[in-house]
Amino acid sequence: MDLINLKGIGPKTLKILNKIGINSDEDLITHYPFRYNILKKTDLDSLESDSYIVTDGVVESMPYLVHIGRRMDKMTFRLNVGTRIINVTIFNRGFYKSKLTIGTTITIMGKYDIKHNNCVAADIRFSKLPEVPTIEPIYHATYGLSSRELSKVIDLRLKSDIDVIDYVPDYLNYKYGFMEKEKAIRIAHHPMNINDLKKARQKLKYEELFIFMLKMNYLKNYKSKEIGLKRDVDYNEVLKFIDSLPFRLTEDQLSSVEDIYKDLTGPNRMNRLLQGDVGSGKTIVSIISMYINYLAGYQSALMAPTEILASQHYNNISKLFKDLDIKVELLTGKLKVKEKKIIVEKLKNNEIDIIIGTHALFSDDVAYNNLGLVITDEQHRFGVNQRASLKNKGITPDILYMSATPIPRTYALTIYGDMDISSIKTMPSGRKEIITTLKKPSEIKDVLTSMDNELSLGHQIYVVAPLIEESDKIDLENVYEIEANMNKAFGKKYNIGVLHGKLSETEKDEIMDKFKNNDIQILISTTVVEVGVDVPNATMMVIYDAFRFGLSALHQLRGRVGRNSLQSYCILLSNRETERLDILTKTTDGFKVAEEDFKLRGSGDLFGSRQSGDMQFNLADLKKDFDILMKAKEDSEEFLLNEDDRYTYIKSLVINANNLD
Ligand code: ADP
Ligand code: MG
Repeated sequence: MDLINLKGIGPKTLKILNKIGINSDEDLITHYPFRYNILKKTDLDSLESDSYIVTDGVVESMPYLVHIGRRMDKMTFRLNVGTRIINVTIFNRGFYKSKLTIGTTITIMGKYDIKHNNCVAADIRFSKLPEVPTIEPIYHATYGLSSRELSKVIDLRLKSDIDVIDYVPDYLNYKYGFMEKEKAIRIAHHPMNINDLKKARQKLKYEELFIFMLKMNYLKNYKSKEIGLKRDVDYNEVLKFIDSLPFRLTEDQLSSVEDIYKDLTGPNRMNRLLQGDVGSGKTIVSIISMYINYLAGYQSALMAPTEILASQHYNNISKLFKDLDIKVELLTGKLKVKEKKIIVEKLKNNEIDIIIGTHALFSDDVAYNNLGLVITDEQHRFGVNQRASLKNKGITPDILYMSATPIPRTYALTIYGDMDISSIKTMPSGRKEIITTLKKPSEIKDVLTSMDNELSLGHQIYVVAPLIEESDKIDLENVYEIEANMNKAFGKKYNIGVLHGKLSETEKDEIMDKFKNNDIQILISTTVVEVGVDVPNATMMVIYDAFRFGLSALHQLRGRVGRNSLQSYCILLSNRETERLDILTKTTDGFKVAEEDFKLRGSGDLFGSRQSGDMQFNLADLKKDFDILMKAKEDSEEFLLNEDDRYTYIKSLVINANNLD
């Protein structure tokens, strides 16, 4: 059925529906509410703590309206709810003032503060609550289409039959006691009670995740069967190179190298994720991989997310290979046209063995002679498009993704279910644990003293702040304000630099270079400094308003220090104490941080690294529905072994959807 033929959908509504991604009948039916209002009067007398309430009542006092700044307003009035009179506050609904006359019956919903007998209403309805408790679906209102209008359109549609395919095989529906898909869809839009709603959502989420895991599993099987390049490399040659390094590899580094060696010399194409904390030494593993690839006579490309990182890699790698006959070049968007031309020409003629760069490596005008290995650093920074561009060039090199957002294995097996995984869990020996402390802004004097100590030892310091400029709305520290303060404290003796995303690439590089060369001792920056930057002499990081950052972002930031044998420090400045910040003071192990993050709030940032378009679900939320995901994972593995041809329709759905690459 075409949407336009549906009752209630005219050209104007159709346009809006298309804009929010609803293009087919099925899209419409599966466009679920994002939350529900339970229209049932809350018994205020049995409340024990502040909570979200719903109640109707009669307006007792003239609303009092004040304007806050140009855009906001705030209205307060008293509401008689039968058993008591409560104070109601509502923001940005000044336009209701004239309707809220004394004696009017209304319904409010919002957060009730028991102690102050005050409810901050999220919404007002000019009606009584229904006699029987009802559940009201709330849809995201967008492009001028309100939740209620959308609800009406969907209701009209649901008056007719719906014809949807249930992709959960019947034996699994039976196993979990799932309801039929059609019923589940109807209930999701119009639940009669919470219990049914839960069951309906459970089924629909499971279906989404089951299909997702099926795709992952299918892709893994399919990818692992792809024929790889032939390489004949003696492992002793590799060991010799490893022996020549200025340090000894850790056990995990060595076993990662072995994994990769086996992939590269084995029959199948490599599709591997190398994960390990910041500073765990992934780069050297990638360098050895490129060396193996070089020995086999192929070109390698190492792609970094920023110019800074690319040139850092370039410098390190050139140094390591300087006594060997390996030609290394750097290709970034910054090169002059002429320079780029020369490099492109050399790549084509196989006069370059290893090319390092940003996504410029795969721009349209770059062609390779015999590209055998592609490595992406901090892979989660790359869009799906960049990875797809490889495919478009018609080359199928081995691929190694590096990620500094380590994920405990059980979780990795789902979200990275289509890849093989090597993990580096321990830091190189000689590293001291970063000492992390939590400080209140009022303790800034102590912080400055600690900073002074580090500086006087000849070390450098990162200072990180969440915002660039003074904001008039929220009072946050910002880099320029901090710069002024730091200048007061240290300006006479030390150089201070500022780095943020609004600077041009050249300006950023300049500042970073100065910091690397110790021409700048204190670098104040936003999170642009987050990715991979390596300045071993920096031994302290001070993070302002630390509570503003996610756990994994903080952990990443902290990884900028502690990059050699010096004792390093991380000071988290925050006027709030949170469990998150507490975790960071207790552990520096990224796998543990991820695990704790997971316990605290579902999967937390774990999956942030892979939240691409391919991973968007109508209902399921990888952050919250992890247990369903795990079930779906096991079931899908079993299902793929099932030869029953009654299920081919499910498998064909998966095979046609090979867009997860
Ligand atoms: P990341 O995993 O964050 O990419 P790097 O590869 O940048 O970490 O390594 C951090 C630092 O540790 C580098 O300076 C690197 O030379 C050094 N390093 C790597 N492996 C070892 C090791 N086994 N022993 C000592 N130092 C090492
Ligand atoms: Mg790195």
